[in-house]
This record gives sequence, structure tokens and C-alpha cells, in this order.
Amino acid sequence: MHRICPVCNGLSKLSARCPVCGLAAEDHGRYNDLIGPYSPYRPIDELSASNGLPDLALHACAHTAFCRNCAHAFPVYIQEEAH
Ligand SMILES: [Zn+2]
Ligand SMILES: [Zn+2]
Repeated sequence: MHRICPVCNGLSKLSARCPVCGLAAEDHGRYNDLIGPYSPYRPIDELSASNGLPDLALHACAHTAFCRNCAHAFPVYIQEEAH
């Protein structure tokens, strides 16, 4: 048994509302992809263990949601499903 993110695997759509304007935001991929490998927010000693986000502990996949209406991007944690 392993856990997969239903959004990454195309099983369901990311559903999130923009906290600024309240309209539906769209999935812009994994949060890690946005911040990149050289993120200044990531402590150097956690490079191999974690990306600095709580996704490992929560079994959640961090995605970036993007609102086209006001160009606001924010992280959304997708609960991974056991298969
Ligand atoms: Zn995902
Ligand atoms: Zn918005």
C-alpha cells in the first residue's frame, strides 16, 4: 500500500477558493516546483529530509493554487489517498 496524490495522478481536480477574492482557483502544479530547489525558505540542514513544508508529516501533497482573477498564488495541501 502506498499513498498517492489524487490531483497529481489525475483522479480529481484541485478545488480551492482564492482567499483574496473568493473565486475558484486553479491548480498550478506542485508547490515544490514553484519554489524551486534553491528556495531561501528552506533551511540548509533539511535539504535531504524535507522541503520545509508539513506535507510529509500530514501525508499531504503541497500544490500551488492560482487565481486568474487577481493573480494570487497560494499553497493548498491535498490529502493523499492510500492505495
Ligand atoms: Zn499532488
Ligand atoms: Zn482571487
